[in-house]
Amino acid sequence: MPAPDRPGVTCPFCGLVCDDLRVGPGTRGLAVTENGCAVAARGFGQVATATTGPRIAGAPATLADAAAAAARLLAAARRPLIGGLGTDVQGARAACRLADQTGGVLDHMNGAGAIRNLLVLQDSGWITTTLSEIRNRCDLLILAGGDITSRFPRFFERTIAAPEALFGGDRQCATVFLGRGPQAGVTLPGPVEVIGCEVAELGQAFGLLRALLAGRPVQATSAAGAPLAVWQGLADRMRAATYGVVAWAAPDFDFPHAELAIQTLCELVKDLNRDTRFSGLPLGGSDGDITVDAVSLWQTGFGLRAAFGAGGPTQDLHQHATARLLASGEADALVWVSSFDPARTPPASTVPTVVLGHAAMTLPAEPAVFIPVGTPGVDHAGHLFRTDRVVALPLAALRGSALPSVAEALDAIGAALEGGR
Ligand code: SF4
Repeated sequence: MPAPDRPGVTCPFCGLVCDDLRVGPGTRGLAVTENGCAVAARGFGQVATATTGPRIAGAPATLADAAAAAARLLAAARRPLIGGLGTDVQGARAACRLADQTGGVLDHMNGAGAIRNLLVLQDSGWITTTLSEIRNRCDLLILAGGDITSRFPRFFERTIAAPEALFGGDRQCATVFLGRGPQAGVTLPGPVEVIGCEVAELGQAFGLLRALLAGRPVQATSAAGAPLAVWQGLADRMRAATYGVVAWAAPDFDFPHAELAIQTLCELVKDLNRDTRFSGLPLGGSDGDITVDAVSLWQTGFGLRAAFGAGGPTQDLHQHATARLLASGEADALVWVSSFDPARTPPASTVPTVVLGHAAMTLPAEPAVFIPVGTPGVDHAGHLFRTDRVVALPLAALRGSALPSVAEALDAIGAALEGGR
């Protein structure tokens, strides 16, 4: 059935979950005709491959038979890993149910980055804000790690460059990039400064800023490759801001012990709140990582990397990592879920694998079972949490689709397990 052209579409293809797109029929898939970005255009433009349908060991199968084959595989497993988890609220709930049923472990494909933030949140807490607060109040926006628009293309458009704000349009927000500068073509409404520095050494700079703000004696002449005077200037601007925000994307902090740099940053934000208002904004939410964390939290009492066993759910941010579980052989079956991005295929492993994948997914190796699934917000309705966690946005079905949702496919596997098929 051709999709109608419709306004007010919510986009599921990054953690900003923009809700102002216009989407209609395209030459391939759907086309974004207003308020999109390159990531959205690619996501809505994806179409199923001509041969897509469930497969068992490469042979075409019905959904019921594929679910039964997956159930047999899971019934024989000691410690299945339900990974990837690129899905929406309903899919995450179904993943929790299946993990409970099978004694499985849950981990997200973005888990390695997400735990850098979770370790800080669990250990010392943080002060964070929302996209709306940035739009309405922010007068100094610092981007730690630099270029944010490659991961969140409309970040500025949805915050400091938005045409409407609660207190009128005459607000002025300065932007400081720490690390890489903005991508070519990105224009910002206020003054822009780029402090070119080593992202992997930003922890030093955050520590230095804390010392400068506290008035402690400092012997260092530079930090992260930038001279002391630059950091002193930034410390003064941070203290003078009336509503400052520092945003970062965990994947940009991909170096050993990066959580310590993030923790120092979060402590810096707390220091600033003695004299002014300052907040952090950890950016995430793409491929449903924040959604899965939230659902796991309310379903099990634990966020990402929860596991089920005889004593009830547990969480271990290191032991329950996909890479470790597969490399050690501790996980003896893998259910890989990826419904937004056909490029997010399962990691190479020797364990029997069931893939619930985007219908355009091309796999490097044929899994034991493949079930093509619909994309929330394209093929079926759903809900996704936005990056700032304060809202779960409803997603609409934009076209008629015979593809099952992740929740339907996982529940079919669960029902087959229950029925002993
Ligand atoms: S910025 Fe993200 S949510 Fe917004 S339109 Fe682009 S991909 Fe979609």
